[in-house]
Amino acid sequence: MMKFESTLDFAAQLDANDPLRSYRDQFYIPTSASGKDSIYFVGNSLGLQPKSTAQRVQQELDDWKKYGVEGHFEAKNPWVSYHHLVKKSLGRLVGGSSQEVVAMNTLTGNLHAMMVSFYQPTPSRHKILLLNQSFPSDRYAIASQIAFHGYDPSDAMICFGPEGSEGVVCQEELCALIDQRGEEIALILIEGVSYITGQRFDLKTITNRGHARGCFVGTDLAHAVGNVELDLHDIGVDFAVWCSYKYLNGGPGCIAGAFVHDRHASNFDLPIFAGWWGHDEKKRFLMEKDFSPMVGIDRWQVSNIPIMTTACLQASLDIFDCATMPALVEKSKTMTGFLFFLLEGRLKDKISIVTPSNPEQRGCQLSLIIPGGKSGYETLIAKGVACDWREPNVVRIAPVPLYNTYQDVYRFVELLEEVL
Ligand SMILES: *Cc1c(COP(=O)(O)O)cnc(C)c1O
Repeated sequence: MMKFESTLDFAAQLDANDPLRSYRDQFYIPTSASGKDSIYFVGNSLGLQPKSTAQRVQQELDDWKKYGVEGHFEAKNPWVSYHHLVKKSLGRLVGGSSQEVVAMNTLTGNLHAMMVSFYQPTPSRHKILLLNQSFPSDRYAIASQIAFHGYDPSDAMICFGPEGSEGVVCQEELCALIDQRGEEIALILIEGVSYITGQRFDLKTITNRGHARGCFVGTDLAHAVGNVELDLHDIGVDFAVWCSYKYLNGGPGCIAGAFVHDRHASNFDLPIFAGWWGHDEKKRFLMEKDFSPMVGIDRWQVSNIPIMTTACLQASLDIFDCATMPALVEKSKTMTGFLFFLLEGRLKDKISIVTPSNPEQRGCQLSLIIPGGKSGYETLIAKGVACDWREPNVVRIAPVPLYNTYQDVYRFVELLEEVL
């Protein structure tokens, strides 16, 4: 662990020695009301736009203009096989093979698609284990799946752990609950990193414990992908879903992603909701009446891929491929470690940090409870800090290693001191 100093000079020195410092120039940084670069700490909500995105999209617009429908085959990147273009990079980010990962749909849609396959309730095993701190969209999706199968969500949802920002989840207790009640549980659905507390979960242990009790285990990686290193194949989760507009910088509403473990690649007994893009791609245009499913995750695809948002995603994945996750995570740990150090050293009595102090149990985000609550947050915004507020009382601060600087971190803490 590096020895930090609480000065702007020290922050400037960290920036000067940062091997990833040039990546910031590959992004557009929004300006604040004063006309200066904002301190953009909401990459966990909407990542910044790579300067290369426009060119990627322009290429597809040009090919559409030039070729019309023939672009499916004649475009520089033929649209008919466009979904294959992002598989390698996505696989690197989440730790899965091309047969295990795909870009499709949007996040909550993918969660539903996965629950169609991996939530198979029976009278004796119909529960879903989730966290009280789970993101509302996931809760709504879970409750509606339970009701769709004719069960009562209030009985079938086992919601574990503290509420809101009350604290972090005790994973030993979570695992004990799985040991104890696993036989009632059809599906365990846990986020990789909590959106509200920033806590990172030990997916491997949770998955092993769930599998030992016969449960399927899935994960929502909205706040984990592009933020922490992942090795889903090795972790062994049955499925994972994520969005691409947070740490992946794909732009608002960007195409999302999904993973299904190879052990299910040829398990055609799993029910799916099918569409033509899941049909054997060699025979897709024969327009056959009967569905011949692809092996692996590709059979979960229902529609042809949205080219424009996938082009946006590609621009960002190129950057991740160059920078690489191990290097990004190394910087991220130092940068968030620096933030933690400054907050502890200068504001310990005034704020509380909800996120675990152990760097292995978090990504880049720290969730803070500050006096003055929402008005304190609004003052920060007015001072040029782009951060966000989550009910009931959390300010989320996410220094992103691709485009944030150590001086951003230092200035933020100074501004927070002024506000308090
Ligand atoms: C951001 C986020 C969502 C948002 O869902 P969309 O379908 O992309 O609108 C859902 N779940 C979690 C855990 C999130 O962090």
